[in-house]
Amino acid sequence: MEIKTVKGFKDILGLDALLFNEIQRVGYDIANSFGYKLIVLPTVEYAELFDRSVGNTTDIVEKEMFTFEDKGGRTLSLRPEMTASVARSFIEHHMETNPLPLKFFYFGQCFRYENPQKGRYREFYQLGVEVLGDISPLLDIEVIQIALKIIEQFNIKNLKVKINSIGCRVCRPKYKEALTEALKPHYDELCPDCKRRLYTNPLRVLDCKKEEDSLKEILPRITNYLCDECRKHFEEVQRLLTELKIPFEVDNTLVRGLDYYTKTVFEVISEDLGAQNALLGGGRYDYLVEDLGGRKTPGVGFAMGVERFIEILKGNKFKTPEKKKLYITYDKKFGSNAFEIRNSLIPDFVVEIDPKGDSLKKQIERASKRGSDFILIMGENEVLENSISIKDLKSGNQIKIKIDELKESLKELLKDA
Ligand SMILES: [Zn+2]
Ligand SMILES: [Zn+2]
Repeated sequence: MEIKTVKGFKDILGLDALLFNEIQRVGYDIANSFGYKLIVLPTVEYAELFDRSVGNTTDIVEKEMFTFEDKGGRTLSLRPEMTASVARSFIEHHMETNPLPLKFFYFGQCFRYENPQKGRYREFYQLGVEVLGDISPLLDIEVIQIALKIIEQFNIKNLKVKINSIGCRVCRPKYKEALTEALKPHYDELCPDCKRRLYTNPLRVLDCKKEEDSLKEILPRITNYLCDECRKHFEEVQRLLTELKIPFEVDNTLVRGLDYYTKTVFEVISEDLGAQNALLGGGRYDYLVEDLGGRKTPGVGFAMGVERFIEILKGNKFKTPEKKKLYITYDKKFGSNAFEIRNSLIPDFVVEIDPKGDSLKKQIERASKRGSDFILIMGENEVLENSISIKDLKSGNQIKIKIDELKESLKELLKDA
């Protein structure tokens, strides 16, 4: 029987793979330019890590985790997101002894047991940044700027930031109480999950897709309940966004599906993308490290779903920058010369060597089937004259040049190609 991929898992092939690589490359390049360092984390963690961070009344932990017992009897989970792992790593390696804040970039796969649909899989990749060790609203702005900068590299326009503040330990309990009170008369309109969470985690109602927007509109707004510290922080974030001319709107229903957020939460949307317009999301998490047993260390970051971004880029017909493709054809006697030539041209070009070295006609046929831009011809005449012919497959033009001028001639030719 033919073995296929598991439901919700997939191969990343062709154009998707090119875009995948480009997103990772650009993401790292931009974040690194802002002073962020790469962190690579394990895909498996103790399940408890996510109970205590993402939250045990969230959809992710309640329904979507791949949790299993290993042969040693440990209860483990495939990570459903990466911020908790960054915090775990920060604590485990005593990173608080470094000059703070510490700034990280990550790219890796996460796992959630969800119903697969377009752009959504059980194994998916996230790209993100985290800053640990500083409370300043300037850092909220910095991570938003990184997010925008990455997206802009892919020619996605009309970007806008949706923001909200979800308060802190001081002010959020009062808001939760008010929210529960306001929701009680609407108990029958709530979905089974929200009914259950009404007293433990009423914020999830704001996030839940199953309730009507008309219900959400009549609920109390968190920004009316913020304590002085949270209010000032939120005002400062808005002031900076305004000053930097970053388009934004306050959305009081924005809470994000994770319990560890405090103060600022945000999403970046593109108004060109219609209803499902969120490109990424993030926020501040000032208690996360502490809740996981570390020293009090505030943090802020964002995560972007790579698969959905790939779908968007394909819809926009985004083209990855590609090197020109060369194909070396040769007279069988001179096979080793072909290898030498290739070595001299890598990594400026993509260079393939014909695998057979049979008749020139057949070699050229194979070259054009593989989508080569130029063919380099090393026939007997060329080799004896210490030269090489370059054939442009599009125009059919062919020139002969000296071998030691090859690289320069190709660059010259490709300027116009
Ligand atoms: Zn507060
Ligand atoms: Zn609900």
